Amino acid sequence: MEILDILIIGAGPIGLNCALEAKKNNLNYLIIEKGTIVNSLYNYPLYMKFFSTADKLEIAEIPFISAAPKPGRQEALEYYQGIARQKNLNINLYEKVLKVSKKEELFEIKTSKSTYQAKNVIISTGFYDIPNLMNIPGEDLPKVKHYYTEPYPFARQKIVVVGSSNSSVDAALETYRKGADVTMIIRNPEISSHVKYWVKPDIENRISEGSIKAYFNAEMLEIREHSVIFRDENGDHIEIENNFVLAMTGYLPDFDFLKNSGIELNSDCLNPVYNKETMETNVPNLYLAGVVCGGKDTHLWFIENSRIHAEMIVKSILSK
Ligand SMILES: Cc1cc2nc3c(=O)[nH]c(=O)nc-3n(C[C@H](O)[C@H](O)[C@H](O)COP(=O)(O)OP(=O)(O)OC[C@H]3O[C@@H](n4cnc5c(N)ncnc54)[C@H](O)[C@@H]3O)c2cc1C
Repeated sequence: MEILDILIIGAGPIGLNCALEAKKNNLNYLIIEKGTIVNSLYNYPLYMKFFSTADKLEIAEIPFISAAPKPGRQEALEYYQGIARQKNLNINLYEKVLKVSKKEELFEIKTSKSTYQAKNVIISTGFYDIPNLMNIPGEDLPKVKHYYTEPYPFARQKIVVVGSSNSSVDAALETYRKGADVTMIIRNPEISSHVKYWVKPDIENRISEGSIKAYFNAEMLEIREHSVIFRDENGDHIEIENNFVLAMTGYLPDFDFLKNSGIELNSDCLNPVYNKETMETNVPNLYLAGVVCGGKDTHLWFIENSRIHAEMIVKSILSK
């Protein structure tokens, strides 16, 4: 069996960046990806706009040309998939990594299709595969969506949007503009300060004029086939008619996968342990890259500030 210098788990923007850095340094690498290239971006809402400008999403100094200052999902797919194609990166697609274990000096990586050996492993698995559940009765009903794609199925429907992050606000505004009757149930006292600065006034104005109803300091209690029940800021239980729930309550890294790979997770946020200069975890030669590093705090890392991980990791590998 061939022994790889680096096996990279996940072909997101940061996994691709690690592959480019490995290639540049003549290291023998392979990316294993469970879906398509940049699978998380492929599953984003169809009409989403990045909060970053195109230059901040660039990897390996390859220009990202976008007609608008903030690129959309399709342009990002063209950019990252184009890089993988043009640079002929070594990627196995539709193959899931199931287990990483250390056998003496080498890693054994078991996937849904095969087993590999590598001297170093980079986990760049992101956080977009596991929804942060509300854990309330009715959450498993088919009318409840944890991923939002586009507004058209929701025209003339009574929609509850849970949360006040970028995803919630985009879903509320888009569905409202296609004729949905939108109610937002928001745990916090106001719209999140993380919401894109050019979108925040829009949602706040729609709420204050009453076009979109919003309950702040409120909590979802139960979802029924034709209604939802929530607690409002006075502690009263309110039941409203409802056709669909868009539960935009965030996503989580695969903590079981990290733990099973031997990585220690700290504090309530389950932050993985790693060296801030090299990105090496408590398991020697096992590295983390990209947004997976933040644990439950998924606002900590994004493409903009985790692009540097690739260079840090390869430098550490070469220095050994
Ligand atoms: C809607 C939305 C908008 C965002 N907008 C921005 C923005 O404007 N600017 C910005 O900088 N950041 C943004 N982010 C945050 C973040 O930068 C992105 O989530 C980005 O995709 C993270 O890159 P990544 O490579 O770390 O992880 P991902 O892109 O999530 O890549 C991880 C990859 O690993 C694969 N994978 C997972 N588990 C396995 C496994 N066991 N085996 C094999 N493959 C596996 C996944 O399929 C996926 O392709 C946004 C996030 C979301 C959700």
